[in-house]
Amino acid sequence: MRAIRVHRFGGPEVLSLESLPDPVASHAQVVVRVHAIGVNPVDTYIREGTYGPREFPFTPGYDASGVIESVGAGVTDWKPGDRVVLYRPAAGTYAERVLSEATALFRLPASATFEQGASLGVPYLTAHVALFGRGRAQRGETVLVHGATGGVGVAAVQLAARAGLRVLGTGGTERGRELVRQQGVERVFDHTKPGCIDEIRSATGGKGPDLIIEMLANVNLENDLALLHTRGRVVIVGSRGTIQITPRHTMRGNLDVLGMSLHNCTPAEIASAFAEIAAGVEEHTVRPIVGTTLPLDQAARAHEQIMAPGAFGKIVLTCP
Ligand code: NAP
Repeated sequence: MRAIRVHRFGGPEVLSLESLPDPVASHAQVVVRVHAIGVNPVDTYIREGTYGPREFPFTPGYDASGVIESVGAGVTDWKPGDRVVLYRPAAGTYAERVLSEATALFRLPASATFEQGASLGVPYLTAHVALFGRGRAQRGETVLVHGATGGVGVAAVQLAARAGLRVLGTGGTERGRELVRQQGVERVFDHTKPGCIDEIRSATGGKGPDLIIEMLANVNLENDLALLHTRGRVVIVGSRGTIQITPRHTMRGNLDVLGMSLHNCTPAEIASAFAEIAAGVEEHTVRPIVGTTLPLDQAARAHEQIMAPGAFGKIVLTCP
């Protein structure tokens, strides 16, 4: 099989396409023939070494979807031919075949394509945990998805709308904002525009949102704290640097600043969130948007694109 391998930390050029022996399932494992792979920003952080040491060589990737090809003798819940979503199997997902434990498998909803299935793991699980786990979102509240045009942002907009929240979003390009408008937001704002925060405040009648799902806290956290309604919460999903904040803002409204990383979720939390996400797919309120599809050998291009401005849904690699 072909797989992307990384032999040293570095830029996108360290992603090399190589031939490897096909994996073989041991007792409790399955082999999945991968059809689509979700590309996430975290794949680039790991590739460049920001997330600490790694054993080389390794295959990157947390998300994929495909069809089970073979199962070990101890696997009873899955069979060859099952369409599955993979989330964080022990082996990386940038490969034509992935060896996985049964605990990393979820059933791919019948109405979803493989490309959509590869978009469900990290983005939708993150959005779900940020909104309902950490953010304690309640029906009728107003949520601002600050950075709504990318993988997590689109997921957060759809899941919040499905749960009966009033949803506001932001995007950096008109193309991205138009995409967000189609996902169930009431208003969408331009986060590159100086008056953006004032516009959001007036759209909430001067009160501010109850909850902010924040994709770039190192740029926005100070403004978020000044904007939030009383007893508001900001959940930090993404941050790429440092920022100075005014702690007094939190006292004004008994505000909560909450960090979140999907890595801290228990398997039970992941399974419960995925069950709700899959229900949303079946009822068509959850519709992953795949903006870019590239073949596996274009992984380096996908890594360049995901770190560039102008997000438009998910970037997916395919293994036809
Ligand atoms: P993505 O698809 O690349 O999207 C990035 C998003 O950030 C886009 O919506 C982009 O908007 C937005 N953005 C850019 N500048 C912004 C600004 N000044 N203010 C607000 N938003 C801005 O990435 P993703 O998969 O959605 O992930 C988003 C972030 O969350 C990344 O930093 C990622 O590492 C992080 N993340 C964290 C977890 C976790 O467990 N904590 C899990 C998944 C992802 P435009 O391109 O339209 O400007």
